[in-house]
Amino acid sequence: MILLMGLPGAGKGTQGKIMADQHGMHLISMGEIIRLYVTGERRARMLAGELLEDDEVINILERVLDSIPNKDLCVLDGFPRTVHQADWLLEKSKQDNFSVSHVIHLDAGEDTVRSRLRARGRLDDKEEVIEERFKEYKELTQPLIDWFNEHDIDVININAERSVDEVNNDVTRSLNL
Ligand code: ADP
Repeated sequence: MILLMGLPGAGKGTQGKIMADQHGMHLISMGEIIRLYVTGERRARMLAGELLEDDEVINILERVLDSIPNKDLCVLDGFPRTVHQADWLLEKSKQDNFSVSHVIHLDAGEDTVRSRLRARGRLDDKEEVIEERFKEYKELTQPLIDWFNEHDIDVININAERSVDEVNNDVTRSLNL
């Protein structure tokens, strides 16, 4: 299993899709799956840039993962977003016998991703929501990079400020795919 990390707009969805298509892997896009399941007041919170409760996201992901026989063939975009979620994934990998082999960190600065998100224009890509999502990322998700290192999970840093093709070439090269 390969994990994709990076600020909103860093290109996780874009690169995840290319990787999955090129190498015949499953693409699990947590954002897309959550947008499929979540309704009502929780959907409003999500659109305001807040993360959902860990347990809620974990439950949703577990159902999806349990439907996939070979979990090593998964590219996971947008999970884990907190240390608690990462703890759960590591436990799950031990129980179900798959391995989190690499983390691809798509590294792009806030100015770059801000202008990409403006152009993408999803409902949660509004100015103040973007800032809230950056804040959540810095507080909750960024610390995961150290957590992965402490757990001997290989984090590969990719300069994600370049073109889609250049980033993809780098990802492919670093994974030896
Ligand atoms: P994430 O899944 O990390 O939020 P996306 O893959 O949805 O990011 O990308 C956000 C926006 O930026 C999309 O509109 C996408 O087309 C665009 N984009 C992604 N990667 C690049 C890139 N390397 N250069 C320019 N634009 C990009």
